[in-house]
Amino acid sequence: MRGDFRTRLTLAFGGSIGLVLIAMSVMSFLFIRQTAEMKVRDDLHAAAVAQQRLWASQEQVLQEKASTLALDFGFRAAVATEDLPTIGSALANLKSRLGVDTAYVILPDGRSVPSADADRQTIEQAPPAILKAVESGERPSGVIRGETGFYQVVSAPIKAPRLVGWVVFAMPLDDAQLAELETLSAIPLSARFSSERVVEPKQSKTIISSNEVPGFGDLPSAYLVLSYPMARAMAPYNGMFVALLVTTIGGLIILLLCCWAVARSVTGPIRLLDAAVRQFGETSIVDVSINSDDEIGRLAGSFRSMAGRIAEREARITALSLTDTDSDLPNRRALEKAILELPSHHHSRYFVLAVSIDRFARIQNTIGQVATNALVSMVGHRIAEAGKVFAYGRIGSDSMALVVRADDAGQAEEIFHSLKIDDDPFRVGTETVDVHVTGGYARLDEDHALSAIDLAAIAIGQARDAGRKVQPFDAEAYGDPSGTLSMMSELMLSLDDGTVSLVYQPKFDVRTQKITGVEALLRWIHPVRGFVPPDIFVGNAEETGHIRPLTCWVVSKVIEEHDRLARNGFELKFAINLSGRLLTDDSFTDWVIETISKSDGKYCLEVTETAVIDDPQQALANIDKLRKAGIEISIDDYGAGLSSLSYLKQIPAHELKIDKAFVLSMQEGSSDALLVKSTIDLAHSLGLRVVAEGVETTEVLSLLAIMGADVAQGYYISRPLKPADLETFLRAEAVRLTETDPKPAKEA
Ligand code: C2E
Ligand code: CA
Ligand code: CA
Repeated sequence: MRGDFRTRLTLAFGGSIGLVLIAMSVMSFLFIRQTAEMKVRDDLHAAAVAQQRLWASQEQVLQEKASTLALDFGFRAAVATEDLPTIGSALANLKSRLGVDTAYVILPDGRSVPSADADRQTIEQAPPAILKAVESGERPSGVIRGETGFYQVVSAPIKAPRLVGWVVFAMPLDDAQLAELETLSAIPLSARFSSERVVEPKQSKTIISSNEVPGFGDLPSAYLVLSYPMARAMAPYNGMFVALLVTTIGGLIILLLCCWAVARSVTGPIRLLDAAVRQFGETSIVDVSINSDDEIGRLAGSFRSMAGRIAEREARITALSLTDTDSDLPNRRALEKAILELPSHHHSRYFVLAVSIDRFARIQNTIGQVATNALVSMVGHRIAEAGKVFAYGRIGSDSMALVVRADDAGQAEEIFHSLKIDDDPFRVGTETVDVHVTGGYARLDEDHALSAIDLAAIAIGQARDAGRKVQPFDAEAYGDPSGTLSMMSELMLSLDDGTVSLVYQPKFDVRTQKITGVEALLRWIHPVRGFVPPDIFVGNAEETGHIRPLTCWVVSKVIEEHDRLARNGFELKFAINLSGRLLTDDSFTDWVIETISKSDGKYCLEVTETAVIDDPQQALANIDKLRKAGIEISIDDYGAGLSSLSYLKQIPAHELKIDKAFVLSMQEGSSDALLVKSTIDLAHSLGLRVVAEGVETTEVLSLLAIMGADVAQGYYISRPLKPADLETFLRAEAVRLTETDPKPAKEA
């Protein structure tokens, strides 16, 4: 893969230029060849023309000689008298004098008289074709094919004054003549006569030119065939061809070498850059030593600065991911990381000590979110200053954990007490805040499915339940956590066997003094365990991923119950508790909207506000969808979590439910009553309806009415009721209303 680019570059450049080089060489070769061939053809043609001209003048000379003889008086008299011996000797005499090869006289009856020196002295009949030729033409001449070869023949009539015969002269077209042609020609051609036209075969290695020589009279033409082998024609060019071949091959080799060298120099820096990017991907180390001022150099520079920025951002993200943004303390992940870095054989000598601020919600609601963050930060720093702290971090809104070096539980508790958080109050801005904490701890190597941090946090709850300041994790009291999953599958299986059911708690409109809605609450009576608190199994369902099917079951049941009650004449708004986690589930949201749209009733979803913080953007988008579908949103347990005013403003809810913890203690001290009052005002200013839950007494209800709460819910109005009991309750309410002649709430 590494050399690939270089090879491809070499092949692309070298290959394409090489192809052009080869194509040019082939074209040159073909061009030279064709030029040579054309030249040879021209030479052959010139030779043929020269030969024909030669013959024409030879023929003319011969013709003149024949005519001269035919005009000779003595000769004419001899022919007229058919004095054959005289004719023969005259012919012989002339023949040698004029240098004529063969001479005849043809008499009108066709007899042909040879010269006296001819080999054969018999008087023979002239061939009919010759006789016909001399009879018909004026002075015919041309080629005749004889027994020994081709002859150039001329004739002339003998008149005395009437026609008494013809004199015929013939010259052989012999090898000597052809040889002369061969030597005279510009090229070393070979010549011969043929009675037929010779056609040059296709792909011939010889260039052939056939030139017609007209026959004597009607006798067939002959052909002068000139030929020249291609190889010989090309011979002068062979040197050039070799030179062409050598330059082509040499050029190709040089070209490939050059391309390879160029490709190397071009891809070298790219390879370096490639290696650097790879290294950066694997190790986040940037090492590029390319400093040229060309494009590659600039690319390397950009890469260096980009990688630098990435590394910087990565470092920042890592730092952020290990920091609690509210308090700037290390977070749980930082703590987990620190524990991972501790060699495991040291774990037995370390404890995780969790510290939780008591009545945290109340502090928060008193001093506000910003001051609370500052307070948590101060508590964190005081913890960090204590001795023997290996690492620490915030693990929950109200809790921090420390990893401390301790030999035993006693020493761990000593460290907890040495933190002295309860002793000195904290100064936050202008206010002084008394902080009390509860502690829980677990050995780092505690043998448990949950982490030591979780166990320490659980121990805090155990300490509070037991009314202690600090205590170790009590595995026995905690029970079997691996039972959680089997408990969940049991719950899911029990959904339709009657052990899981819904009860409905009425919601009372403080102003109209009417029951306007109910809240559906889950109940599970386990055949062995008995009553399982919904807080427990709902929490487990959230953690084990069973919350969605469980909630779907609730929604379907609630709709059934609504429709049943509506048929019986009771139209109520049904509130369903919704785990905040499900708000980030788009398909669940769609399912709820679709399912609820099939019912005519009014529905409200009570969402615990802490949960919404997980993925606010998506949760808010889904809340918006639900709103648009006509489903109301209620913020449940307000005050118990981390909510702040700015956060509340973002949620387009219809209703705010003040957590029962505040309502229950409204009479205890004026601070909670004030808190409830300010919450009601705040909610109203945001356009929210206020529900107070946990109303157990008539005093609290009256107080709430005075404070302007809209709806009350609690044991004083009604405990959560089974469907049948709810109907009875509603009927009794209807009767009460007609009997007591309902008045507006403020008058009651
Ligand atoms: P929640 O939504 O705050 O429900 C109100 C809880 O307060 C209910 O407890 C109810 O029985 C109790 N309560 C009502 N009036 C009074 C009163 O006057 N005094 C006192 N001390 N308590 C009162 P419950 O039924 O044990 O439910 C506990 C929690 O379990 C609920 O708190 C809710 O968060 C969760 N839960 C119950 N059913 C469902 C459900 O169907 N889905 C989901 N996601 N959570 C549910
Ligand atoms: Ca609720
Ligand atoms: Ca509640």
